[in-house]
Amino acid sequence: MSKIKLMNESLANKIAAGEVIERIANVVKELVENSIDAGSTNITVNLLDSGKTKIEVIDNGSGMDRSDAKLCFLRHATSKVYNDDDLFFINTLGFRGEALASIASVSEVILNTYDGKESTSITIKGSKIISTTDGQKRKGTHIKVNKLFYNTPARLKYLKSDRSELNLVVSYIEKLSLANPKISFTLTNNNQTLIKTSGKNLLKAINEIYGLEISKNTIPIHLSSDDYDIDGFICKPEILKKNKNHMHVFINGRVIKNFELLKTIDEAYHTYKPDGFYPVVFINIFTDPSLTDVNIHPTKQDIKISKMAILKTEIRDSIKNALYSDNLVSSPLKFEETLESKLPINLFEEPFEETKEVELVKREYTAFSDSTFKVEEQSEFDFKSINEQIRKIELYPVGIAFGTYIIAENKEGIYLIDQHAAQERINYEKILRSFLKNEQIDMLVPITMELSTSEYDIVMKMKDKLIEMGFNIEPFGPNTIKIDSHPTWVKESKEKDTIKEVINVLTEEEKNFDALKFNDKVAATVACKASIKGNSRITLDAANFILEQLVLCDNPYNCPHGRPTIIKFTIYELEKMFKRSM
Ligand code: ZN
Ligand code: ZN
Repeated sequence: MSKIKLMNESLANKIAAGEVIERIANVVKELVENSIDAGSTNITVNLLDSGKTKIEVIDNGSGMDRSDAKLCFLRHATSKVYNDDDLFFINTLGFRGEALASIASVSEVILNTYDGKESTSITIKGSKIISTTDGQKRKGTHIKVNKLFYNTPARLKYLKSDRSELNLVVSYIEKLSLANPKISFTLTNNNQTLIKTSGKNLLKAINEIYGLEISKNTIPIHLSSDDYDIDGFICKPEILKKNKNHMHVFINGRVIKNFELLKTIDEAYHTYKPDGFYPVVFINIFTDPSLTDVNIHPTKQDIKISKMAILKTEIRDSIKNALYSDNLVSSPLKFEETLESKLPINLFEEPFEETKEVELVKREYTAFSDSTFKVEEQSEFDFKSINEQIRKIELYPVGIAFGTYIIAENKEGIYLIDQHAAQERINYEKILRSFLKNEQIDMLVPITMELSTSEYDIVMKMKDKLIEMGFNIEPFGPNTIKIDSHPTWVKESKEKDTIKEVINVLTEEEKNFDALKFNDKVAATVACKASIKGNSRITLDAANFILEQLVLCDNPYNCPHGRPTIIKFTIYELEKMFKRSM
């Protein structure tokens, strides 16, 4: 029976896909997604002149019978969507019946398809069927799109340079190979192989697309709930990129771009990396298709997600669990090397800026309480035991360089520890913990402080927040405040300085005030001020004390600003550098 049905007009209008074909990558996308829908396990894309002369897609999918092969070039033909209701249960990638028709109207298409019974070869030029004959009996579909836009010179001109068109295709096939790691993809241009994946599993695909440096620095993530199953790999924070293009998120095998989810991922790395650098992640989300609506815009790849809050929590927890579980001590050099992106390409047409809508989304910073890291029963890895190992690391200080770096050793290698960054981390976690306790001290002698008019206004406006934090503040004459109690984390004799710092943070954070973010920033600022500076000599005993406390931190690897605290040179690396072992 014919699998292809004509879509009704109202549905076709809803989908409004007339603008689908603009770039070579759009054509490749339509053809390849059809191959995926046909159940292919092997898909080859061959381009000539970046696709301007020829785009060829060969798959080993189910193929089509002759009537489908003819029908698929008609407008609004689709095998996937039948009526309006089906739009909400879209589980297949291609759902726009117009795509093949659009392609066929602006090129020469040669289609060869065999469904195991009937083989068909059709040639179409500018929407007209030129010939229909028996074709080759090779299971699957083989489609050639020659001379794209030959009859629409204006659109031909709209195509960008070969390199730019090719970059988009490469980026798209890379993402698709990661989203569908069980399918083997090959991409060539002018007979040169650009991508080849073996179709085994995600880690193998990561290795084939990104190379060993990335694939060996991944941590698996896994989390299951009633609504969403999350699976995949995240890279250790020593691998960072300057753009967001390497944060891969897939829903049911579909490449998606969703600002809210990217923001959640970025925030899950909070303090594990500096702001403005982005992690490399490969996150698969499996869910009932009725919870997502991919049909917002045919080319933009955005997606509407129900139960977004649940999904965000799951993604954040799975990343935090993975980061907490692993030994993340940086190795030398790697950090700098990996800051640059492999290819400066952007799959998405519009600049990857966050929209205003996204900015309005409430930031959900999580305080670093122990309860944040709840153990998932389904976890495949035992992060507790790995973390306990890290807590047991013994580091023996042997010297201090430049009054800044503690040099330590143990039987695994040599460590350099930034004494300021390390102490900052220790203080930061201490302060965050005492925020949770919320204890305060009444002062015997209250402090009075004179502020600038704007500071005074802000303090009065946010008075409740400060009282909540444990600062009991009262107005005390013009632009003057009186404080008679403060939280326990404020150091004795540093009360005035600390209150000044809190007011500074309050001034910065007053717009879009968010309590968790404010607390976090106060903790980081106060921790920085309270920590010993670089270029000041400390004793080995003091260094030892810092190291003992550092390894007990939830994240001993980074200061609250995401910079590394500790770098390790393994004995192997040292021996290699000194050519003691080759
Ligand atoms: Zn600092
Ligand atoms: Zn710092």
